[in-house]
Amino acid sequence: MAQHAIILCSGGLDSTTVAYQAAQTYDTLTLLFFNYQQPTIEQERQSAQTAAQSLKAEFKEITLQKLDMAGTPNKLQEKDLKDTQEESANCYIPARNLIFLSHALSYVDTLPEKADILVGFKNEGPEHYPDTTPAFVQQVNQISQEATKTKPKILAPLIKMDKEDIIQLATNLKVPLENTFSCYTSDTKHCGTCLNCQLRKAGFKWANQNDPTAYLE
Ligand SMILES: [Zn+2]
Repeated sequence: MAQHAIILCSGGLDSTTVAYQAAQTYDTLTLLFFNYQQPTIEQERQSAQTAAQSLKAEFKEITLQKLDMAGTPNKLQEKDLKDTQEESANCYIPARNLIFLSHALSYVDTLPEKADILVGFKNEGPEHYPDTTPAFVQQVNQISQEATKTKPKILAPLIKMDKEDIIQLATNLKVPLENTFSCYTSDTKHCGTCLNCQLRKAGFKWANQNDPTAYLE
């Protein structure tokens, strides 16, 4: 295992938990944050920077051209969570993780020492996105072997976990979850009604943990 971890960190609950977990095993951490002109960038950046400061990690931002969602996110009620496939299709940013990982591979190859790349992909269940699956991670690892000098490993430690498992892990790791940001519609507090906010709320409920998030509604 390399001693340097590059964590793709959006400031969200999953990737921040990966960063806190990595802090227990790696000597050096870099939180890699992507600016793709997302509407919630200020909150995401603030959350990722706060995590970097707490973990004494380097914060590195890569600026990309604007990436758009495949559709328009809807406001959802809790009952809507039973069938979120359509909403997931709307909120999906096509090939986002492939773009991010390409940049991460390029960045790691510029470093003087070997590094692992860590991502916060979780078990997406029925609303799975094509670029968060174990098969996708395996294939990017193959590409890394072919396309890079230092052949970094791409690791997805949460890939078999559901949201509530991650919240339980984060609680054990004492991750300050109130500083993480999951919403993809609000540029202030969590909106409380988009798919990500609903999944976040439900995750705390199912994990039987107090939800410290300040929601607009
Ligand atoms: Zn939201």
